[in-house]
Amino acid sequence: MKKIALLLGLCLCLSVCGCRRETSRSATLYFMDTLITVTLYTEDDDLADVIFAECRTILTDLEDLWSRHREESEIARFNADGQGIDCPDARTHALLETALAVAQATDGAFDPTIAPLVSLWERCGEEDRLPTEQELSAVRGYSYLTLGESSLFKSDPAVQLDLGGIGKGAAISHLIDYLESCEVRGGLVSFGSNVAVFGEKPDGTDFRVALRDPKDAHGTVGTLTLRTGEILSVSGDYERYVTIGGARYHHILDPKTGYPADTGLASVALVAKDGAVADALSTALFVMGQEDAMAFYRSGVYAFEAVFVAHDGTVTVTDGLTDRFE
Ligand code: AMP
Ligand code: MG
Repeated sequence: MKKIALLLGLCLCLSVCGCRRETSRSATLYFMDTLITVTLYTEDDDLADVIFAECRTILTDLEDLWSRHREESEIARFNADGQGIDCPDARTHALLETALAVAQATDGAFDPTIAPLVSLWERCGEEDRLPTEQELSAVRGYSYLTLGESSLFKSDPAVQLDLGGIGKGAAISHLIDYLESCEVRGGLVSFGSNVAVFGEKPDGTDFRVALRDPKDAHGTVGTLTLRTGEILSVSGDYERYVTIGGARYHHILDPKTGYPADTGLASVALVAKDGAVADALSTALFVMGQEDAMAFYRSGVYAFEAVFVAHDGTVTVTDGLTDRFE
């Protein structure tokens, strides 16, 4: 995860370096276990400092709401309670609305209630053993979650949320919404394996992002032109994993089998207008595999474009990217 963050950061940085250095200001922040780089096209140091401070506030608030490892967060409170919580924050409500919609549209390939399965694999990694059938069958899915107008309830006490597959994308959209309201010409945000741009570059050239080669942390599979208002989210099996019996088990789980998704894909890079949608769909399409993912793309349920990289090195792009992926 950190490696791709750095690579994306580096590639973005290279494209920014085309303009004179003093026309941009950058800050590196650290939230949700992830490095974030915010770059602004402005020469005003004071303005940049005010904007960076507000970015920190936005991210602190979201981490306080969504981290399942912070006892006081809404998600931790929901997870610890046998029934759920009343009156979730509007940002949490909106995020879960998107999460449940994507879960339904992808027939559960994306499942925000994946927390018990994630914890099970972490435990199995520590104990160097595979999960038992009994442990896997005890896991409940998103159909046990109900989002009301001012409530978030579970119909089984075992249900727990993990927003690892959607939270960073949602957070980047919150940042971009704020940044677009600022008096700067444009800029970009890289947040782990999510990237977004806004406004325009001082030299008027395109924002170009290099996509990492899943097999080689220093290599790339191509370069994508990212348009203002778009968010790019990448899910890959190289990002995080546990080792059991000497074999790697990666972190993107197929809720239907309980095992890491194994569909021949090494990564999915997905572009959409909404960060939460982009993040959730990149995870879902990775689980679905390329064939089902392409059928889902053609169904038009969500508007997005994607780049699929298979384990055999094959790179496939959806129709809308053919003229802007090299
Ligand atoms: P991403 O890198 O966006 O694909 O998200 C991966 C993270 O999302 C994992 O580390 C888990 O925390 C969580 N996750 C894993 N599998 C799923 C899934 N099928 N649906 C939703 N979240 C998942
Ligand atoms: Mg995701």
